[in-house]
Amino acid sequence: MKVLVLNCGSSSIKYKLINMIDNSNVASGVMEKIGLKGSFLKHQNEGQEKIKLEGEVLDHQVGIEYIIGVMTDPKIGCIKSLDQIGAVGHRVVHGGEEFKGSVILNDEVIAQIENCIDLAPLHNPPNLKGIYAVSALMPDKPQVGVFDTAFHQTMPRHAYMYGIPKSLYNKYKVRRYGFHGTSHRYVSNRVCEFLGLDYNKTKTINCHLGNGSSICAIDSGQSVDTSMGFTPVEGLLMGTRAGDLDIGAVTYIMDKEKINTDAASTLFNKHSGLLGVSGISSDAREVEDAAYKEGNEDALLALKMFQYRIRKYIASYMAAMSGCDVITFTGGIGENSDIDREAICKDLEFMGIKIDKEKNKGLRGKEAIISTDDSPVTVCVIPTDEELTIAKQTIKLVEQL
Ligand code: ADP
Repeated sequence: MKVLVLNCGSSSIKYKLINMIDNSNVASGVMEKIGLKGSFLKHQNEGQEKIKLEGEVLDHQVGIEYIIGVMTDPKIGCIKSLDQIGAVGHRVVHGGEEFKGSVILNDEVIAQIENCIDLAPLHNPPNLKGIYAVSALMPDKPQVGVFDTAFHQTMPRHAYMYGIPKSLYNKYKVRRYGFHGTSHRYVSNRVCEFLGLDYNKTKTINCHLGNGSSICAIDSGQSVDTSMGFTPVEGLLMGTRAGDLDIGAVTYIMDKEKINTDAASTLFNKHSGLLGVSGISSDAREVEDAAYKEGNEDALLALKMFQYRIRKYIASYMAAMSGCDVITFTGGIGENSDIDREAICKDLEFMGIKIDKEKNKGLRGKEAIISTDDSPVTVCVIPTDEELTIAKQTIKLVEQL
């Protein structure tokens, strides 16, 4: 059976078609600028050249129709007909407290996801558009929702509650939810397979470092704490998100700049982080170039802040779990930036973390151990695979139907 995995953003649809017999990719691509001028699709059949197609794409339904058209095209496609797609798995960002795992989508579940829009007004609506579109275009295909938040529903109360009046939790469910759960689940599982460890007896700290970044403490297969919170803005310094910040500074800035909550949200989510501090870019590669090749002071500061905060989280999660067996790096930065990995792990021998500079150097996008043979904590790079995880969860539920 083949599973189509969809990740629908506000103006984009990322997709991957996976053959579940051997977990291999059949095709993948991304449609961008949906509803805007100049929409285009980049599609790639596995092992072939990437192709770019341009066309007017007004909404997600037209976009998914377009993608299906390309996939089933006799000349450029990868499957003969839609019959070859057994099920569709959707990435859904926020599942609130309702969803502790992945679920088959039906009217009731879709209504519950709609109820979570308040919690993720930027992310859940486009995710839902993808679900509505598939329901309209392929009504006979089973669909599964895989939530970014679900993996973290195992966090204990003392880790997910905030120090605000409890009535606000009771009324509005304001608490830490955490995100990137699909990636944290995959990487923490995969690293145990890779190292031959028992997942149910291993303590892992997973650093997912990309445009959005978060750290997760996973004890015996369960997320026990994570750095993102009620929204993805909490925690690490990210591409454009501020991460941890004194609430007093937020209200002070809002007063001084005379900005409302929407403008404040844009400021702390879109204009902060690496971009805000460096003034150069949200892209780590560009900030690294400015810092290390041109000696730009603000770029250097931004990277130091990024690395320093990760070190602090690693140490605090070691305390949270009373130790740690494995640290993993994943995401675009975690998988590719040897400079950041080395800086983050530098001088942490006192906590049992001993990085092997030679093993780390130049390592990009490959599963590998980067700690020394005698390091009490094993440090690894594990490329994430959120789509495969979504496909696996999808097939597991569909087979039970
Ligand atoms: P997203 O959160 O959008 O999925 P990714 O996981 O793809 O993001 O990560 C994107 C980030 O990874 C960008 O900041 C990019 O600069 C960074 N990155 C990719 N390759 C490298 C590299 N070789 N060195 C440093 N950073 C890199």
